[in-house]
Amino acid sequence: PFATVSGCDLRVPLVQGGTTTYANFDYAASAPALQQVTDRVADLLPYYASVHRGAGYASRISTDCYESARGSVARFLNAADDQVVVFTRNTTDSLNLLASCVPGDTVVLDVEHHANLLPWTRHGRRVVPIADTIEETIQRVVAELCSKPAALLAVTGASNVTGELLPLERLAWIAHQCGTRILVDAAQLAPHRRIDLRTTGIDYLAFSGHKAYAPFGAGVLVGRLDWLDAAEPYLAGGGAVRSVAADGVEWAPAPQRHEAGSPNVLGVAALAAACDALAELDETTLIEHEQYLTHRLRYGLKTVPGVHFLRVWRDSADAVGIVAFTVDGFEPGQVAAYLSAEHGIGVRDGRFCAHPLLARLGVDAALRASIGLGTTTADVDRLIDAIATLVERGPAWNYARTEGHWNP
Ligand code: PMP
Repeated sequence: PFATVSGCDLRVPLVQGGTTTYANFDYAASAPALQQVTDRVADLLPYYASVHRGAGYASRISTDCYESARGSVARFLNAADDQVVVFTRNTTDSLNLLASCVPGDTVVLDVEHHANLLPWTRHGRRVVPIADTIEETIQRVVAELCSKPAALLAVTGASNVTGELLPLERLAWIAHQCGTRILVDAAQLAPHRRIDLRTTGIDYLAFSGHKAYAPFGAGVLVGRLDWLDAAEPYLAGGGAVRSVAADGVEWAPAPQRHEAGSPNVLGVAALAAACDALAELDETTLIEHEQYLTHRLRYGLKTVPGVHFLRVWRDSADAVGIVAFTVDGFEPGQVAAYLSAEHGIGVRDGRFCAHPLLARLGVDAALRASIGLGTTTADVDRLIDAIATLVERGPAWNYARTEGHWNP
């Protein structure tokens, strides 16, 4: 493994009896906590107290921790001076928040996760169908932005289905030429690549703590202050105001404006610890490690008859550690169940909250194996061997789901 994460040595039961070490290939859904994150949370727990609302020592420590977390996120992303860090629950929450602030139409691609598709529906959403190549997809974006002004271009940093990357700097440049701002859904990108908001020109960015090696419950929206300050608060309530009188309210500026209610100090501290830890990793070796494992998995699976990979663009040159595939003769759900029950391997199956993309790729469902900081070569080989074993048995030999038991 590249770093120590929780659950590395988890023992899981096998249907044939006995136990094995869990092989986690579901980092893209939620990544286990980094050791530095676990330590930071343990350190803060004794001081866990009300944030912004108490004068006691523990409250002051908790408040400091919460506020300094904004700096960790801003440093991690090299945020510009006019960009603020708003803490949310997750990427979905961040994107819905931004959707409530956009003063005009939003242009999106149909490659997106539902979280970056559905919030815009209510806000003048214009969907651009992707093409077979990134180059042609970009031309379609240009045509759309030129045809009618748009306030925002909302794009994914890395596809949650295939891991493929879009050229963000170029898209930001194109958007800006058209007077449009750009939002990046970095839920899958932030855990794998360093993102520099200043040099790429990205205006808004969202990601979730739980995909970036912190626990559930905290996410971020980082972005330019003016829209966030001009919009109505996302939630109305305590903490979002400067003053309230019987007949009116003066809202606080962002980020407090959009953070009403008692904040999730442990979640935010964990997210900040993850950002600090990820920022410390050497990006080149991190990418090399991940690409080695991803290529090993891809080449291994390629040798198994009937395995087909999903790919969005013919000309995509780079991807994060995600391999999506189908196996002829087997339902993805059956394969996933078999991998878990017989081999203690966790993958994701289904449509990955990206129904329009799966429809475009012509599959009802697929399997997704995603790689992260705790993945080892041995894990990869186990997954390849398990799929090869299943295919050797043949499609007639199958699993049926009965009340949570697995019947060979
Ligand atoms: N965008 C992408 C690309 C994702 O992969 C996900 C999670 N699968 C989300 C958004 C939503 O993240 P969350 O559920 O943490 O809000």
